[in-house]
Amino acid sequence: MKQLRILVTGGAGFLGSHLCDRLVKEGHDVICLDNYFTGRKRNIEHLMGTCNFELLRHDITFPVFVEVDQIYNLACPASPVHYQYNPVKTIKTNVMGAINVLGLAKRIKARVLQASTSEVYGDPAEHPQTESYWGNVNPVGLRSCYDEGKRVAETLFFDYHRQNRVDIRVVRIFNTYGPRMHPGDGRVVSNFIVQALQGRDITLYGDGSQTRSFCYVDDLIDGLVRMMNIDGFTGPVNIGNPDEFTIRELAEKVVKLTKSKSKTVYRPLPQDDPKQRRPDITLAEKQLTWRPSVPLEEGLRKTIDYFKNNLD
Ligand code: NAD
Ligand code: UDP
Repeated sequence: MKQLRILVTGGAGFLGSHLCDRLVKEGHDVICLDNYFTGRKRNIEHLMGTCNFELLRHDITFPVFVEVDQIYNLACPASPVHYQYNPVKTIKTNVMGAINVLGLAKRIKARVLQASTSEVYGDPAEHPQTESYWGNVNPVGLRSCYDEGKRVAETLFFDYHRQNRVDIRVVRIFNTYGPRMHPGDGRVVSNFIVQALQGRDITLYGDGSQTRSFCYVDDLIDGLVRMMNIDGFTGPVNIGNPDEFTIRELAEKVVKLTKSKSKTVYRPLPQDDPKQRRPDITLAEKQLTWRPSVPLEEGLRKTIDYFKNNLD
């Protein structure tokens, strides 16, 4: 494979660090850009000292100047707790970040991939979600900084593509989990595992009947890399695991696999929490010959093993 120069924004985060691992292993020259808002140096410390890996402390709301062939734009907090901590900053990261990576891609003629999200479908009225569904998003709610920010970013990607012929790829990522999630991240898989391992109460929001479909990180990274390297297909494309579970079922699985004595407690459902979510991955199967291979219990076991040694 040809050696490429690749920029990964948000490279010290959960998904970004696994993507850097994969790209460095393939022999590419990787620049990891991050402001360490939710990412951590420990996620990429094993790559430091590798001659084809370099770190750039930078905030993507400001322009960046580097010479690369490909850009993966992952910079943005992904957990509701973190993206609602400073919502104005979240929308700036999404919108100005997109403008900055697209401006860079235009100037240096790089291919640029946007890490979009299933949140563009909001609380979906269609199930499962196909790429042709336009979504059901509250524009003024607590999740809007993220949902609408990601929607504007998609719009910017397609306008730069139509107007300036920027070579874009847009991937709608569905809930993904695995090692290197931040233990205090607030997302459901890390919350439940950490609570179970520490013997604390498992916090079920609402009655736990809402559904999600969980993709193991290795499957997701494979989908991203395939999408980046396919010619003649911009997306948007759903990447996620179509196996759907209620949040209560997830809690039961985590308790069983950790052999925890934790009990389940119910907490209020956050505002605008989507009731159901499952990707239709027909397009990814057809265009990328991609489908996930790691079942939930196997992925949970690997994630539990990670958290056993990484609870801080
Ligand atoms: P994460 O919070 O672990 O990683 C995000 C990274 O971006 C962190 O390293 C953070 O420090 C960095 N960052 C945030 N704001 C920045 C800024 N202004 N400038 C530079 N760096 C900044 O989250 P993740 O799960 O790894 O998600 C990565 C991307 O994938 C995000 O864009 C997210 O929206 C998208 N995504 C993730 C999921 C998922 O389930 N993990 C689902 C849908 C979409
Ligand atoms: N959730 C929960 N307990 C928690 C954290 C989350 O019941 O401790 C629920 C949350 O209300 C949502 C689902 O789990 O219905 C997924 O939440 P997460 O924050 O992981 O991601 P989302 O898909 O909502 O962005």
